[in-house]
Amino acid sequence: MNLILLGAPGAGKGTQAELLTKELGIPAISTGNMLREAIHNGTETGLKAKRYMDQGLLVPDDVIMGIVGDRVAQPDCQKGFILDGVPRTVAQAEALAALGIRIDHVVSIELQDAVIEARMTGRRVCGHCGASYHLTANPPKAEGVCDDCGGALTIRPDDAPETVRKRLTVYHGQTEALKDYYAQVGKLRLIEGNQPIEMVHRAILQAIEA
Ligand code: ADP
Ligand code: ADP
Ligand code: ZN
Repeated sequence: MNLILLGAPGAGKGTQAELLTKELGIPAISTGNMLREAIHNGTETGLKAKRYMDQGLLVPDDVIMGIVGDRVAQPDCQKGFILDGVPRTVAQAEALAALGIRIDHVVSIELQDAVIEARMTGRRVCGHCGASYHLTANPPKAEGVCDDCGGALTIRPDDAPETVRKRLTVYHGQTEALKDYYAQVGKLRLIEGNQPIEMVHRAILQAIEA
């Protein structure tokens, strides 16, 4: 089962990707997490990506397709994978198809812009494994510590309100068109994102008949 999770920044893609990984036993591939790790490690990819991410802009398609192509070729992706945050442009979707990557379902988590700011101001992410928490909606068991790996929780620099607004503009301008792209081939599944995490999870499982 090869899945794509679509949605605005803060819609809940990372949170749902983690739950689906546990439920379905297939890896989640988060380009955002991979890029943050590359920045942390000071790699060439990280250096290229950082200035775009800091401004809330998309990292160029060739950089993204390089890391995604390598990742899906790994043995643990044989039985399927969950793409979280990629593709983000029609060009990236076409590049995936050109790599021969077949997609079963595209799940778009729908959330109005007005709700997103509260999501982002409360978001905390694990600096070690990338897991996503929220101060009130999804707090860790111990304050400031990741449940999964014990890593320290951090605030993402691009979750500052002005950068979030820029990312929303980028989403509406460049990413949302993917909904039409996948609807035309009958793969789009719309999910209401403004409901508790567990209910979003169940709605996704139902939509993909897993
Ligand atoms: P969110 O889930 O909050 O939208 P992500 O962690 O997916 O954020 O992405 C953070 C940033 O990383 C984006 O603003 C963008 O700069 C970059 N990025 C992640 N995935 C992609 C992609 N597929 N194409 C281009 N840029 C990306
Ligand atoms: P994305 O990967 O789409 O940017 P995240 O999964 O990181 O989004 O979620 C953004 C923030 O909202 C996080 O703080 C997360 O804990 C919280 N969150 C995710 N899903 C829900 C939900 N259904 N209700 C309330 N808060 C949520
Ligand atoms: Zn962690």
